[in-house]
Order: sequence, then structure tokens, then C-alpha cells
Amino acid sequence: MNKLLKALVFDGQISVSVLDTTDMVNDAIKIHSLSPVAAAALGRTLTACTFMAYGLKNKGDKLFVTVKGNGKGGKITVCGNGELQMRGYVENPSLDLPLRSDGKLDVGGFIGKTGKLNVTKSMGLKEPYTGSSNLVSGEIAEDFTAYYALSEQIPTAVALGVRIGKDLKCIGAGGVIVQAMPFASEKALKKAEEIILTITNVSELVETIGAEGIMDKYFSCTKFENFTPQYKCLCSRENTERILASLGKKECMDIINEEGEIKVDCEFCNTVYTFDINDVNKIFN
Ligand SMILES: [Zn+2]
Repeated sequence: MNKLLKALVFDGQISVSVLDTTDMVNDAIKIHSLSPVAAAALGRTLTACTFMAYGLKNKGDKLFVTVKGNGKGGKITVCGNGELQMRGYVENPSLDLPLRSDGKLDVGGFIGKTGKLNVTKSMGLKEPYTGSSNLVSGEIAEDFTAYYALSEQIPTAVALGVRIGKDLKCIGAGGVIVQAMPFASEKALKKAEEIILTITNVSELVETIGAEGIMDKYFSCTKFENFTPQYKCLCSRENTERILASLGKKECMDIINEEGEIKVDCEFCNTVYTFDINDVNKIFN
């Protein structure tokens, strides 16, 4: 089961979040037939975005994140909402790369070291909030750390990891994220950052001691709030009909005349919705 554990530590000065996203990454692998490095790149992004989605004010608020670097893996897109229903895809899901010299998956090589991290948060009727920062390494954790520092001005430290087993199954994925509360002292912040720096094997820790074990081992914390994120696409035939309606009847009939039917492919879950001439007539009647 996916988990997001949240607690305040160091006299309430630091907010710590520990995520187990192993099932979420396995869902993504199944849907998109991801290579190991693509699974790590998308999995790390899904994990960081799950943390970010928690920060939305209301359950109906939405998050839209893209990571676009100059690597061959292409753009990563992740969406989510305040209910922690997450989904995502990567441009080149089957691209694989050799392991790095330290034996880790080469996420930085897959994504590329130069590019942008873009965030859009839609909250109620107000104009959406948008933020953006340059990629630091393409390794995702450092890129989100930089995003929070530059775009949201919240001191944050992020550790993320995805471990892929021999049969292309994720055996451990998750993250540890610490964030300074507005009144946090320099000392508390430094202590939290030092702890994050020692966590170089998040995925292995998730696999062996679990999210609760990480809370206890690194933050001596046994009391926390517990949330359950999931990989969930919210597309539907009704929503797709609405998109076609907004295209207009002429546009739709042109496609029917040329192709015989309209096929709409959801990039997040690979469901294909097919509409024939009768369906199109129904939409516009
Ligand atoms: Zn879908």
C-alpha cells in the first residue's frame, strides 16, 4: 500500500514527510511498460508530486507538473489532486540507459541536466498559481529542492529513490522530505538537512524498514499522520465527450469522414475512447 506519513519534529520547527510509493510505481510500470530508468525517473517525479499535492488546500485542487530536460527520455508529465490521486507519463517510456558507475539508474542522463521544472496549481476559482525553476541535475530530488527554494521560498530538502528488481518490478520506492516551518531556527534546519544527506538509499530503506521505520530511525518519531496516495486516472468517456463537444461538430465530422471514427487516447492510463458517427451525432444533438 502506498503511504504518506507526516509529522512535526524538532519542537515543531520542521515538517517531515516520508513516502512509500512502491505500488504507485508498479502501477505506472504496468500501464506504460517502463524501462528501469524510465520507471525511476517517472517514479521519483510521482513521489515528489505526491508530497506537493498534499500541500494543496482543498481536495478538489489540482496539480500539474512537467520536467523537461535535454535528455533522450523526453518530458515527464505528472498530475494529481488534493485527494492524492496521482498519474503521469514519460515521453520515451522504453528508452533504457546503462547503469552509472556507482551502480545506480542514470535518471540524470535520462532526463538531462539542463531544462525546466514547471508547476501549475489550480485552486478553486482563483487564477492558477504557476512556478518554475531550472533543473539542477535531472536527478529529480535536487531539482525539486531547488524549485522549493527559488519558486516557493521554502527551505526544503528532498531524498527520493526507486529500486527496480530483476523482473522489472519495483521493490521499493519512496521519499523523505523535510521542510522548514516559518519560525524554524537555522539550527533545526541544518540538523534536518544533515539527516537528509545521510539518507542515500531511500528505496532500500522503504523495502527493508518501511516508511514507519524511516520515521523512527532518522527522526525518533513514532506518532504521525497517515495518508494513502494512489495512482488513479480520472479520465472517462463523459469527459472525453465534453472535449469533443468543445472541438465543434464540423471538426469532429471532418475526422469521421477521413478516418471513419474518432480515437482519443488518454496518455495517463492508455485507455482508448472510440467514437463513431452515431456517437458524434448524439454528442451534438
Ligand atoms: Zn486515463
